[in-house]
Amino acid sequence: MPYSENIARLQPSATIAVSSLAKRLRAEGRDIVDLSAGEPDFDTPEFIVDAAIDGLRRGRTRYTPAPGLPELRRAIAESLAEWSGRDVDWEGVVVSAGAKQSLFNACFSLFGPGDEVLIVAPYWTSYPQIVALTRAEPVFVAGDVANGFKADPDRLEAARTPRTRGLILCSPCNPTGAVYSRDELDAVARWAERHGVCVVADEIYRSIYYGAEGGRAPSILDLDEDALSRWVLIDGASKAFAMTGWRIGFSYTATDLARKISALQSHTTSNAATPSQVAALAAFAGGARTAEAVAGMVDAFRRRRNAVTGWMRERLPGVDFVEPGGAFYLFFRVDGFFDAERPDSSAFCSWLIETAGVATVPGVAFGDDRYARMSFAAADETLDRGIERMAEAVRSLSAASGAPTS
Ligand code: PMP
Ligand code: GLU
Repeated sequence: MPYSENIARLQPSATIAVSSLAKRLRAEGRDIVDLSAGEPDFDTPEFIVDAAIDGLRRGRTRYTPAPGLPELRRAIAESLAEWSGRDVDWEGVVVSAGAKQSLFNACFSLFGPGDEVLIVAPYWTSYPQIVALTRAEPVFVAGDVANGFKADPDRLEAARTPRTRGLILCSPCNPTGAVYSRDELDAVARWAERHGVCVVADEIYRSIYYGAEGGRAPSILDLDEDALSRWVLIDGASKAFAMTGWRIGFSYTATDLARKISALQSHTTSNAATPSQVAALAAFAGGARTAEAVAGMVDAFRRRRNAVTGWMRERLPGVDFVEPGGAFYLFFRVDGFFDAERPDSSAFCSWLIETAGVATVPGVAFGDDRYARMSFAAADETLDRGIERMAEAVRSLSAASGAPTS
């Protein structure tokens, strides 16, 4: 069947492909340690689930306005205002079916044929695909490996052309866990402002943060208002509230653009699922109850981050990785294990799942073929087992090649 130029370059999501493969192998009876999935392993907090059930019983089963329930948009705006100390206009908030739709809406509304959009590599696997769907050109900017793969104005400037319209920035970053400091964000924002570049700031992991600064990662909302005037903030309920399956994300931007985004959504999916919006309302308006639930999950992620980085150093010494300051991923270098049978990260990860039953995502999906990504949003003993099996597998490789085992 002939298909259009719109999808000519489209590839399926590699992160979803690996986690689907892991689920399938498990269903076939294989013992798989799944470190591929980028989702909290916790259940959605009970009070959020109860709110949805109660909403369903009260008949909250109909359409809402396309950009979402006004009370949810207000609650989101209030929560943004509360942590940022900034005035937030609730009409700039549009609720969508997951942050992925929010990203698509934002990019489709901002970029088009002839535009170039800078993406800092390594990047979350969907960014280039989303940009390509708008028919703009994704342009990759290699981050500085010595600084958690982050990009600074010099690197961005080297990639800028007169067609550069946008920059997608993810902090805390999937797949590296690197977090831009407020100063780093400020420098990037001022560079973007100087050149009329619109920043799409994906802050979906903002509250999954292991530093001190107020329990959340620095945000573009922390910047002085004159630092950046063209931006879209992307966030949602998926990661912070363990609500991946509910599909609630949002964008926050200037109200004129928010109206366009809402119009786009009104012709594609209409509103995000109403029961999910009712649940998200309980989460965003949940005050201390929500804060406590989030803090409990972040504590567990922090403990696992410490355990995983410790085990990696102990059992796979010499394997470099980015120290995660947020999110729940470890991006680790695997090209030291490449050989004729495993010439790249895809072959390495396929071999790892085949021989050791450990599912990880090849770095090539994130724009760096030397690496692989594991998610540490898994039980402690699963992580322990996964890393142990991985260490055994690579030891068998070194033994076979006669190389000294580490
Ligand atoms: N941005 C990043 C960086 C992500 O890792 C994800 C994970 N799915 C998303 C956006 C999309 O989130 P959602 O599940 O809410 O669509
Ligand atoms: N964002 C998660 C990941 O990177 C979930 C899968 C997806 O939506 O890509 O693994």
